[in-house]
Amino acid sequence: MTSRLRPFGLVLWVLLSACGSDGGGDPPPISVDPIQTTLVVGETVKLTAVANNSPIVWKSLDSGIATVDGNGLVMGHQIGVARIQVTSGVFSAMATIGVVSPAPGSAQLTLSGTAYYEDRVLNEFGFTGERTPKPIRWAVIHVVSTDGLTILATATTGADGAFAFPTINNSNRQAGVYLQVMAEINSPTPITIQNDPLHRIPYSFISAYMDDSRQDAFSDLSPTATVRSLIGGAFNMLDVFLKGAETVEPLCSACLPPLVAYWESGRDVTTGYDGDAIFVKGGDAYGDRDEYDDAIVAHEYGHFVLKNLSRDDSPGGTHGLTDSNQDPRLSWSEGWATFFASVVLGHPFHVDAKDIGIELAFDLETLFSLKVPSLKEDAITARSEIAVASVLYDLYDTDVLGPESHDKVTLGLAPIWQAVLQMRSGTAPTTITLFWDQLLLAPPAPVDDMFNVFAERQIAVVLP
Ligand SMILES: [Zn+2]
Repeated sequence: MTSRLRPFGLVLWVLLSACGSDGGGDPPPISVDPIQTTLVVGETVKLTAVANNSPIVWKSLDSGIATVDGNGLVMGHQIGVARIQVTSGVFSAMATIGVVSPAPGSAQLTLSGTAYYEDRVLNEFGFTGERTPKPIRWAVIHVVSTDGLTILATATTGADGAFAFPTINNSNRQAGVYLQVMAEINSPTPITIQNDPLHRIPYSFISAYMDDSRQDAFSDLSPTATVRSLIGGAFNMLDVFLKGAETVEPLCSACLPPLVAYWESGRDVTTGYDGDAIFVKGGDAYGDRDEYDDAIVAHEYGHFVLKNLSRDDSPGGTHGLTDSNQDPRLSWSEGWATFFASVVLGHPFHVDAKDIGIELAFDLETLFSLKVPSLKEDAITARSEIAVASVLYDLYDTDVLGPESHDKVTLGLAPIWQAVLQMRSGTAPTTITLFWDQLLLAPPAPVDDMFNVFAERQIAVVLP
């Protein structure tokens, strides 16, 4: 684990420490005892470290909550959770201290408010620099006591991010509570954002600490996952995946398996779907990170949908916007995913932003791209993923911009979805040509008009 993880939340570290010494064999190079304890404000507790090397150095990572001296003596200053780190050479260990009030907690506690994450605003030139609060919808939220770090109650945020806990009857503890918002959704289909396949730690963040010895009710709370905390991106991914699930739900209720996505700020993995989980790039040397690139995130959800509800014979491999000589199974899979992203987001614009500028941006409706001026000419044949995406979008969309043939057809999603679903049982390699065959089984529009959409992108399909 790198120190990058630490800003992600206290509970994240608690989970790490719990599995930090299960390697068997040699004892860890450094350990601390106790690994977790409770401390009353104004009082002290002594921690003990055992290390192979000396000297050891003590440090509080949350010195406003509790401080530690050179002998491991911890002093509690205010209600909260403090991480006490002990270091010896290159090794370190951590203890978690729940600091509580001397007074007992409320026996009749209620809390309510709205959970938010900060979204980075995008346009065709990249991030605008603005940040806008968005509700964290349908996510799991806990009330946690600083006394023992015990979960007192669990609820789910609503469609507007609002949450309300009915009265929590619990007086068998000292005062001190906080909210923990999880990057986890249970319904309509389970989605969780985790740090990596090895540690599988779901993201969460916590609210300010509250002293419930003085009041029973806390309202208008607004816990927020900020961009600066390096965790807002996990909640943006959660929201985009939820939009994907909400797109599928009316067509196929509760038919998708649980989704796990892995992402970590700064971790340079290739964004993709491996048939099991979605991976999202947390950043690279060129400032390209994908967690706020809604179109990229939704594209991967499109792969997830295709694989689980239809069929995906894509051989994978490298591919690109201007490549019109792809394996047609690859261009089908990629084209579907790009099309699906536009349906999910409700617009045809795709951007892959970098910290400064863009990696790529294009409009699926017009095939205009600042980065790739030749896109409209390049996106032809069944071997071009953008031709596939463009045809699907023109079949789907209800905009009628002008007299162009491609905008005569306004199918909506349902007939396209039906044809794609039927490809699950198809025996031919899964391509846009097979999609056309499925579409013709029950033509949802005049066949000539649909044919013209394909012809415009030079996709060779046969009229019946
Ligand atoms: Zn893809």
